Amino acid sequence: MNKIYLDNAATTPLSEEVIDAMVSVLKNNYGNPSSTHSFGQEAKILIENVRREIADYLKVSPAEIIFTSCGTESNNMIIKSCVDHLGVERIITSPLEHKCVAETVLDMKKRRGVEVAYLRPDKKGDVSLEQLENLLKSSDKKTLVTLMHANNEIGNLLDIKKVAQLCKENNALFHSDTVQSMAHMDLDFSDIPVDFASCSAHKFHGPKGSGFAFIRKASGLKGIITGGPQERSLRAGTENVCGIVGLGKALEIYLKNMDSYANHIKEIKQYTIDQLSQKIEGVKFNGRSAEMDNSLYTVLSVLLPFKDPMIGLKLDMKGIAISQGSACSSGAAKPSMVMMMVVDEEEMDHTTPLRVSFSHLTTKEEIDALVDALVEIAKSFHIEKANIEHR
Ligand code: PLP
Repeated sequence: MNKIYLDNAATTPLSEEVIDAMVSVLKNNYGNPSSTHSFGQEAKILIENVRREIADYLKVSPAEIIFTSCGTESNNMIIKSCVDHLGVERIITSPLEHKCVAETVLDMKKRRGVEVAYLRPDKKGDVSLEQLENLLKSSDKKTLVTLMHANNEIGNLLDIKKVAQLCKENNALFHSDTVQSMAHMDLDFSDIPVDFASCSAHKFHGPKGSGFAFIRKASGLKGIITGGPQERSLRAGTENVCGIVGLGKALEIYLKNMDSYANHIKEIKQYTIDQLSQKIEGVKFNGRSAEMDNSLYTVLSVLLPFKDPMIGLKLDMKGIAISQGSACSSGAAKPSMVMMMVVDEEEMDHTTPLRVSFSHLTTKEEIDALVDALVEIAKSFHIEKANIEHR
């Protein structure tokens, strides 16, 4: 059975070039980057080259890039340090954030007494910038706004530049979880006045366990892991040289091919929308994910017109890997917070959400296999599209 992978928002496969670059480091560059001898300095140069590459992509200074173990760590570090070291007393966020942001904000509320205000998303999953502005103007408390750039479940895109400008005008700090958009889109932080952002290599064909935080110079942010002076004392611990080199190689490949990857994926996404709409009566798409210009091109959130909590398992048995929500909540029977925001409670009782997430490796044949499998499952619920000849 040929296995089909359609869960690229959860993680992506490594390319051969990334693996080769990492294996070469494991074999040849085992020096500790903090060591002053040649072994250490060779490893240090590898890290600094990647730092410069990232800085060029984001149009920032290399000193503003701090390597971490993942997106979760970057987001934790930024939010916790804003409270502990920058005097943040209030956080404005939304119920659409990834758990690593949502739980960290709650932790700051519980342990540090931080006031938390939530923006109310509409049924499309968009937050209101008017509400944000009103909230920003409503208090003198030192405020951090944390809003994700691209939603991992429905793909909605935030107008990150507008939000950054609003925060700046109102003296608030702005952190954006850019884990899903980093490398997939052009991001120019010389033009977008965001204070903090996050990245995870495994979302763009790099290794797991490797990411970075963007921390605007002179922000005063400190680390939460104490120890040695690595990463300008912001993130103690011997650097993951091989992971950082893997991140750098994956970023280099993605940026070189961004246009062709994006065009291919958009074509595949439109094909998926068309095929599902033609062949499954009553299928819907959640949030803005089916709007090509208003969503991250890698994510399509589908709402199937029947209730089947076992659908992930059924597809898996047919060799198709897909997520019912985000990777973190897909094992849970409960609908995710994001789904609760964009699907009516009553509709939830007789529908099934499914997240299809693509990469440049996804083919139309794989989409055909997915659609065939879903049509077969839909038939078992007596849902058939009249006058359509199934292949
Ligand atoms: N933020 C978003 C939007 C994500 O989609 C994810 C991963 O699913 C994370 C953060 C966490 O990243 P990591 O897996 O590197 O901890």
